[in-house]
Amino acid sequence: MAEHSQKLQDDADVIVIGSGFGGSVVASRLVEAGMSILLLERGPWRDTVPVREAGVRDTRPLPRSGGMMGVLRSLHPPVGPKRGIRLNKSGFLDLWIGQGVKAVCTSGVGGGSHIWAAMLEWPGKGFWNERADGLDDDVLASHYDRVARELKGTQPPDAASVPNHTDHAWEGEDYFTPLGAGEQPPMAILYPEKEGALEPQTDEHGIVRMPMDFHKDHGMFGSPDGSKSTVDALYLLPAMKKGLVIRTMHEVREIVRQPDNSYRLLVRDLEKQQDLILSAPTVVLAAGTMNTNYLLLHSRQAGGLGELPGLGKGFGANGDLIGSWPVPEDGSRDAASGPPVHGRVKIKGHEDSSYVILAAGETPPVPGFMYARARAKAGQAFDVVAMSQDAADGHIRMDKGRMKFSFSMSGSPSYAATIRAFEALASLSGCPLRFDGRNVFTAHPLGGCRISDDTTAGVVNGAGRVHGHPGLHIADASVFPQPVGVPPSLSIAAWASHVASCMIRDGR
Ligand SMILES: Cc1cc2nc3c(=O)[nH]c(=O)nc-3n(C[C@H](O)[C@H](O)[C@H](O)COP(=O)(O)OP(=O)(O)OC[C@H]3O[C@@H](n4cnc5c(N)ncnc54)[C@H](O)[C@@H]3O)c2cc1C
Repeated sequence: MAEHSQKLQDDADVIVIGSGFGGSVVASRLVEAGMSILLLERGPWRDTVPVREAGVRDTRPLPRSGGMMGVLRSLHPPVGPKRGIRLNKSGFLDLWIGQGVKAVCTSGVGGGSHIWAAMLEWPGKGFWNERADGLDDDVLASHYDRVARELKGTQPPDAASVPNHTDHAWEGEDYFTPLGAGEQPPMAILYPEKEGALEPQTDEHGIVRMPMDFHKDHGMFGSPDGSKSTVDALYLLPAMKKGLVIRTMHEVREIVRQPDNSYRLLVRDLEKQQDLILSAPTVVLAAGTMNTNYLLLHSRQAGGLGELPGLGKGFGANGDLIGSWPVPEDGSRDAASGPPVHGRVKIKGHEDSSYVILAAGETPPVPGFMYARARAKAGQAFDVVAMSQDAADGHIRMDKGRMKFSFSMSGSPSYAATIRAFEALASLSGCPLRFDGRNVFTAHPLGGCRISDDTTAGVVNGAGRVHGHPGLHIADASVFPQPVGVPPSLSIAAWASHVASCMIRDGR
């Protein structure tokens, strides 16, 4: 960034970069502790009922009818411009293309909570143990409890008659093993109390949401009525009432450590097309795995940060494998109705192999006149999505100013097990299950800035502090020392809550 047309000193104790699960939870906790917080988000507010009702005016619609150009924000192919190709500054998704792996992430206030399927899941026992001093499952337990409560995870009431819910829609099918009590994860969804009860509801913070109408789209392209829990509504709107300042369409381009160990951020105001410099003694990086790794790698290369020898190690795809499975037998099930995810399933004979969910066939965001056809097509095939603890042996690095990353399924026994389970489901159900068994497409990229006290193996300590960089913290899934192997957002939120409580306890 050669020139800065405006120099601006915001009087914030802490600057938080990114407003997904990590950034929103940290910002909300720190504001509650009385600190002045500036949150920088590169995307816009999304137009949803809670955001509109709270009086936020400058919003952009969720991608519904804008076609694919409204969906894609940027593409990061292995060739072409080094910083990627930006298609639409208010777009919803980034697509990163690496060697053997593609990763998708979101842009906008609330980050990936607009795209998530709202499944809350806890990692296996011992996930946080023996990673670093001062960190273990017990330390994180109270944070999990609190964020699960705040995200309003619940089971659907019987009277709501949720279409396709795994617990009843597949009863008696011999390709699935029935789940035991408590095995279906809570969903962060405001369900109607009974079928058709669609009155607006106001929560304890005055946030207005509508219960989910199962016959409208609430999938991966967001929930305009706010029925899916999103962190902009549940954390940021209440925190703004306590003084949180959010600047949207502000993209952090570089981090520079100052001689006094404060940080200078080079920021682009995407709306005004201006460059700014913002400074703060403390910075929390919560830009999501791909963008946090990019910012650190780029800033190190530009000379703004120190060595960070552990950076880029341990990149993983959370064992993600996605297949398309046509509606079995009589075709009476409509895969496009109901919530984004219909629940967890266990494939007969492969009950312990991977974490498998059945999701709605996603209606693509096409112009209105094509919608009915697109929805009917989406209704014909369920998405089968598996997660597992892959080997997280991928790498991220900077190569002549371009971020390159690689990951291979072949190094992970968990992928072989998932593929066997998918083949079993196809064979037992008599319906093909289409998936790419060679290249990974992940919605849950993890690692690159792992937690470790060994500075050559990781980037942060057990409190989320970046080694050798006082005042710099990371609060997203880039720190995960191994894949959680289940939907990760509850763990990201719990980690962010822990990072914030360490900052409140220990100072910057
Ligand atoms: C289709 C799909 C379904 C999913 N379903 C589930 C689910 O059911 N359960 C679950 O647990 N997880 C789910 N996930 C995953 C979940 O969305 C992510 O794990 C989660 O959003 C990551 O949280 P985060 O805070 O690390 O990053 P994000 O939520 O990605 O937030 C990062 C934010 O930082 C902003 N940002 C990035 N770079 C910059 C910059 N340079 N300057 C300023 N701002 C920046 C981004 O715009 C973004 O808003 C799903 C993901 C997808 C794609």
